[in-house]
Amino acid sequence: LFITFEGPEGAGKTSVLQRINEIYSGSTQDILFTREPGGIEIAEKIREVILNKAHTAMHERTEALLYAAARAQHFFEKVEPALAAGTHVICDRFIDSSLAYQGHARGIGVAEVKAINEFAIGERMPDVTIFFDIKPERGLARIQEADEREKNRLDVEGLAFHHRVYEGYQQLITSYPSRIRVVNADQPIDVVVADVLAILNEVIGV
Ligand code: C5P
Ligand code: MG
Repeated sequence: LFITFEGPEGAGKTSVLQRINEIYSGSTQDILFTREPGGIEIAEKIREVILNKAHTAMHERTEALLYAAARAQHFFEKVEPALAAGTHVICDRFIDSSLAYQGHARGIGVAEVKAINEFAIGERMPDVTIFFDIKPERGLARIQEADEREKNRLDVEGLAFHHRVYEGYQQLITSYPSRIRVVNADQPIDVVVADVLAILNEVIGV
């Protein structure tokens, strides 16, 4: 199966993914852990271009196209071959991030961003998506504690932007109720890990 992790800033996706990776490293399940934007060399380079920019300098359509370009390369080079070989793939962020961040929060339009992603990777959607649910204020506060530079990058966008990201995700949950599973991410990491493992156990087995 193709499984994606989604959520706003500071939801703990990356930390939970690392923990799950360790837990599954002793299992018989064949699972590939990867991330977006990135996961392979070309896409990691595109990630640097997007995330190292002065946020005001890059046009939002350029940003949306770069995310889609990184996604196409990562998908065809890494994700699709793994799935074809029968490996489960767990990916930190995927198309829903583009729909929530660029489509909804930046105001390009969810349908427009969906269209460029269909050009990039065709109609392929994740089989299961785990949404890490945390209110923007709470997520951003976690980053504030953890990383000053990352905090500055996210502050440039303003709290209203992060609220729109959250709202964008809520609309996606309504649009794709059978695909997107919601986990309360505003809990201690051990509890979040346990909740995510329960879903993974149900969909792919341990
Ligand atoms: O999930 P991760 O923290 O690695 O994502 C890096 C950053 O990329 C996020 O903090 C977010 O600001 C940005 N991003 C975005 N639009 C996307 C995907 C990621 O703005 N479609
Ligand atoms: Mg992160």
